[in-house]
Amino acid sequence: MPQTGQTDFCSNCRKQTEYELRKEAEKETIRDRLYEFTYTKAYCRECGEEMGPLGLIDYNSRERDIQYRRAEQIITVEEIQKLMQLYHIGKAPLSLALGFGEVTVARYMEGQMPSKAYSDLMKEALSNPCCMERLLDENRAKVGEAAYKKARRAAADLKSLFQVSDRMLMVIARIFEQMQEVTPLVLQKMLYYIQGIYSAVYQRPLFEENCVAWQHGPVYEKVYTLFRDFKYNPIDDDRFVLFEGREKYLADDERQIVDLVAETFGSYGGKVLEAITHTERPWQEARKGYGADDPARVVIPKEEIAAYFREVSKAFDIRTKEGLRNYIQFRLAYAYG
Ligand SMILES: [Zn+2]
Repeated sequence: MPQTGQTDFCSNCRKQTEYELRKEAEKETIRDRLYEFTYTKAYCRECGEEMGPLGLIDYNSRERDIQYRRAEQIITVEEIQKLMQLYHIGKAPLSLALGFGEVTVARYMEGQMPSKAYSDLMKEALSNPCCMERLLDENRAKVGEAAYKKARRAAADLKSLFQVSDRMLMVIARIFEQMQEVTPLVLQKMLYYIQGIYSAVYQRPLFEENCVAWQHGPVYEKVYTLFRDFKYNPIDDDRFVLFEGREKYLADDERQIVDLVAETFGSYGGKVLEAITHTERPWQEARKGYGADDPARVVIPKEEIAAYFREVSKAFDIRTKEGLRNYIQFRLAYAYG
């Protein structure tokens, strides 16, 4: 990419001169629609004539491509990449599954612009595994049995993401955005405290899911199933690209509580958080009559969780980081003291 202050041959001055870059808007009509693209242009610092330094044309054509895709909401190369990644499918079988020619997706990957209709279909497949399943079924013979089975399995797996509520997904997306490393165990505890503190403060639950009292503390089972494969490792899930940006649909008060919990409870490891939940009444009540290693899955009613944290709020200011940190210290003394 050329830079202001670099030199090139000016055909007007007939020698090497320095040039300056400026952004300029240009109007252009494509298929009866008027667009305005911003281009970068180079001007000779001595005579003011326009120059054409090496690399500028390529740069501008990439910029134009990006601006056009943005204006028309055309799928990007990165998103097509995600599509292949999510469904474990290669360029040619994906092309055939979508009902395109065999090399169409490969051309898109090289930068060719898809039509709006083809772009919309790819976007739909990206955000909706049921749509992908339907496409795969329709074009099964063309796609080939091995690729079909692999992609069909990936789509079925993705559907499990849609079994948790939208609100839960938004909360999880926000947690992932706020915290560097989240293991499945930490995630479970975050969700529990977010639900508890939110419902105590606002007198209503943040998400509809119930949690159950497992040996390792309160667990939202469908979320557990979703991330089971990560075991004790940080969750690094390419399926979650589907939900990127979801957290912005959370209301301000909801987001604040998620952040508050992430900034306080989120500083501890899963085992420490587990130990804290074991000292708290909601989990203890639900585990009554079961030994430490008994596999039981008694629901901890949302009302119980809310009632418990309302009580906590009488002694600790659960709306503030300081209050929550004091509460955690108090609980840690119980758990390890
Ligand atoms: Zn010049």
